[in-house]
Amino acid sequence: MSATLATVSYIGATILFILSLGGLSNPETSRRGNLYGMIGMTLAVVATVFGPQVTPAGYAWIIGAMVVGGSVGLYAARVVKMTQMPELVALMHSLVGLAAVLVGYANYIDPAASGMFQGVEKTIHEIEIYIGILIGAVTFSGSVIAFGKLSAKISGKPMLLPGRHLLNLAGLLVVVFFAWRFINTHSVADGMTPLIVMTIIALLFGIHMVMAIGGADMPVVVSMLNSYSGWAAAATGFMLNNDLLIVTGALVGSSGAILSYIMCRAMNRNFVSVIAGGFGTEGGKPAAAGSGGEPAGEVVEILAPETAELLRDAKNVIIVPGYGMAVAQAQHTVFEITQFLREKGVNVRFGIHPVAGRMPGHMNVLLAEAKVPYDIVFEMDELNEDFPDTDVAMVIGANDIVNPAAQDDPASPIAGMPVLEVWKAKTSIVMKRSMASGYAGVDNPLFYKENNRMLFGDAKKMLDEVLAALKS
Ligand code: NDP
Repeated sequence: MSATLATVSYIGATILFILSLGGLSNPETSRRGNLYGMIGMTLAVVATVFGPQVTPAGYAWIIGAMVVGGSVGLYAARVVKMTQMPELVALMHSLVGLAAVLVGYANYIDPAASGMFQGVEKTIHEIEIYIGILIGAVTFSGSVIAFGKLSAKISGKPMLLPGRHLLNLAGLLVVVFFAWRFINTHSVADGMTPLIVMTIIALLFGIHMVMAIGGADMPVVVSMLNSYSGWAAAATGFMLNNDLLIVTGALVGSSGAILSYIMCRAMNRNFVSVIAGGFGTEGGKPAAAGSGGEPAGEVVEILAPETAELLRDAKNVIIVPGYGMAVAQAQHTVFEITQFLREKGVNVRFGIHPVAGRMPGHMNVLLAEAKVPYDIVFEMDELNEDFPDTDVAMVIGANDIVNPAAQDDPASPIAGMPVLEVWKAKTSIVMKRSMASGYAGVDNPLFYKENNRMLFGDAKKMLDEVLAALKS
């Protein structure tokens, strides 16, 4: 393929990626967005493989790598459960980071690549390598820790080392010092020491940064690492002199940064304080009734037949899905119940919290999979005012996102986070298996409210029972 054709293909791929991002901003156009992305990526890969930068001698390597990578990807796509997606995404971010590190080293060591530049150009190229490896190493180790936290292999509790901000600052100064030394070396052998020292510090910084972040801030971390992986890819693009990689990396980097900002706003958090860490406690610990600081009171249980009765008599119903719906894979039954009630004239709507589940858009994906019409799925802000006019608010496997303590208790770890005000409905029904807390590890006073009912059990099983009762 000629250089001109490769450039045209790159421009085509760039346009398709931009269209893809535009499509993904709305559930109705997201399928199209995905399709644009897939076509763009195919075009990009084909143009790169057959482009002027690859010699025929490299084809065997490329085909081998594509077979191995493609097989691993296919296998992962088949076996990974929807609830494990956030972990998988974190793992993929780590691979982007690792690739940036390896490309950086290869680029520095390769005599053909390093010999191409002289004078100022050489300095610029070395800065690209240094920054690329730096971002890549932070992304790699940070994402591995995020994977550990999201898959509960590492505790969600923030690890707060004494003087951690000073430690980070010292690390930064050392990295800057070695950058200066790296640029002023005259041989590859001399440059390796500063490069390796910086890589080790960057890896430690990535670990430290994510270890210090508490469970409640993980949504921001997921999107932040997404952004970092984009910048790592852009840095790789600079090192390889590949315009498409620069543009694509910048698109991912900036959209990830915007998503982090949206997530911060959704949780009423300041980005800097998220990065500073220490917010949120251990995830998923049981909140035994009556222990210190908890709201006193009793919970009122309800069974499936009574739930069905409440739903049948209601005019307005709002369903609030959370992580438990994903675990139970209850979305299809939820839709069947919705259809049944709508046929009977009940106004059923869904309220989606921006950080519901374990990844941005988690609930939207599940509801779309179950074919719930988009026009009855609303964002939290669009629906919160309607709870006082709602007969039944049905909470399915959600916890933190409906916790009134976020509004009422300034000492709560989730204080200030906007929540869906389900307790303002005539009756709220919370469907979960036990009294255990949610991801942020805090108790939920909603359970003890007078107008709240607890439907204990696996969400899928309980909803099957509710559906059977509705139909009987
Ligand atoms: P939560 O984690 O707060 O609560 C989920 C609840 O679901 C649990 O209390 C659990 O209770 C229940 N549950 C689990 N399995 C089942 C099941 N099979 N059937 C019925 N219930 C079940 O989830 P939310 O969606 O309310 O809130 C999301 C939380 O995750 C927030 O704290 C958010 O910050 C965090 N987070 C979000 C990310 C994102 O990007 N969206 C990323 C990382 C974290 P029980 O065990 O009693 O059944």
